[in-house]
Amino acid sequence: MTAAIFFVAYGLQVQCLKMAASEGTAIEQSGSLNQTDGYEKKCIFCKIVNKEVDTEVIYFDEELACFKDIKPGAPHHYLVVPMKHIGNCKSLKKDHAPLVEKMVEVGKAMLQKNGITDLNDIRLGFHWPPFCSVTHLHLHVLAPASLMGFTSRIFYRPDSYWFITAEQLLQRLNSFNENT
Ligand SMILES: [Zn+2]
Ligand SMILES: [Zn+2]
Repeated sequence: MTAAIFFVAYGLQVQCLKMAASEGTAIEQSGSLNQTDGYEKKCIFCKIVNKEVDTEVIYFDEELACFKDIKPGAPHHYLVVPMKHIGNCKSLKKDHAPLVEKMVEVGKAMLQKNGITDLNDIRLGFHWPPFCSVTHLHLHVLAPASLMGFTSRIFYRPDSYWFITAEQLLQRLNSFNENT
């Protein structure tokens, strides 16, 4: 790894941890002691979907919820999360693929509902641990991708080792054998 890449990556991680902290989100400690039945009491996203905090949930069904990212990286920036606390994208198994697909569908539907017509100019994906280690699985939905600023382009950069697009994650999950 060159020094330059290291510093970009390191800076990114620090920034992400700050973002996570500013969201009031518990950073993942090794092993989660507070998890009971899909609800983790220190998790801000669990609080949001259970309407314990003031964040406006703009969509929800029995499985998923959607709300705006508090630090938008593009004119439209939504987060789609499962109602139940599920860990980060690295921990997902093959049988999570339908859930991820549904997260993508909801993300696209939210964009369309809010006036985005060019679904080729969007960015959908997940931060790869340890970058942005907010524990609760969340899909970043950004549009238009062409209007993302310099920092956002780095933060949500496809083919980087800190961000995986929804498409790449689905390929990964579908490449797994059953039960792995
Ligand atoms: Zn949670
Ligand atoms: Zn994130």
